Amino acid sequence: MDYRVLLYYNYTKIENPEQFAKEHLALCKSLGLKGRILVAEEGINGTASGTIEATQQYMDWMHNDERFKDTWFKIDESEGHAFRKMFVRPRKELVALNLEEDVDPLRLTGEYLDPKAFKEALLDEDTIVLDARNDYEYDLGHFRGAIRPDIRNFRELPEWIRENKEKFMDKKVVTYCTGGIRCEKFSGWLLREGVENVAQLHGGIATYGKDPEVKGEMWDGKMYVFDDRISVEINQVDKQIVGKDWFDGTPCERYINCGNPSCNRQIITSEENEAKHLGGCCYDCAASETNRYIKRNGISEEERATRLAAIVSEEVSA
Ligand SMILES: [Zn+2]
Repeated sequence: MDYRVLLYYNYTKIENPEQFAKEHLALCKSLGLKGRILVAEEGINGTASGTIEATQQYMDWMHNDERFKDTWFKIDESEGHAFRKMFVRPRKELVALNLEEDVDPLRLTGEYLDPKAFKEALLDEDTIVLDARNDYEYDLGHFRGAIRPDIRNFRELPEWIRENKEKFMDKKVVTYCTGGIRCEKFSGWLLREGVENVAQLHGGIATYGKDPEVKGEMWDGKMYVFDDRISVEINQVDKQIVGKDWFDGTPCERYINCGNPSCNRQIITSEENEAKHLGGCCYDCAASETNRYIKRNGISEEERATRLAAIVSEEVSA
């Protein structure tokens, strides 16, 4: 384990994010880091991998800058880089919530719960625990009893909340996400919407999984991460698999992207089922002319036809 993966954010003022992004990219490259960092006038949100030395130099640099001196880095050990390239991109906002009016989490955000307090909230019957991530993240792993909003993407969350408001208004609502950044704004927005009692898991699932006291307990499955590792373990006490194979529903924790580039849907499936379905999430994707799975695995025209026919006959018999 000679490498580390850093995950962090900081809501802080950055003037001229475009210029900052250029300089920051040069800094990251000079340290040999790889990853993805977003910068906006409202702050910075990043995840990057590098050697222990390089990531330490990066954190020191950040902590020596007045704007970022209180940045909280969540650190994972790793056997190598978790990214292939280094990007630093200027953005209008750090997380896309599709709000007609923005929320400044420095002024309005939910109460912070440490892992121990969050675990108590999970056990409290009068508390609603809301997963503030995308559906495919929830499907691979989530806190026991947490609500899975019926949405594909996090940015649809405010609309879903408004449609289901009666479930939340008079309850204590606790939200969680990977590293905490999505909850900063989302919990503030919930308060503005009139939910009175709103809290958030401080430092996110990543912090909960490393806490020496709770040890990730009551988390089921794995945590989806936005890098080459795809997922990481959280529960060190009584882990259960919750992921289900897209094709046959059997327990599974292996994520792939649909082989059809214009679909790219993330599905959980075994290597065997992936091969059977030519890496496609459905027949049309498997049969797509630009199917990456077929190209990558050098599958012959004859073999392609055989497997496609098998998919059809399986669908007919099901
Ligand atoms: Zn597909």
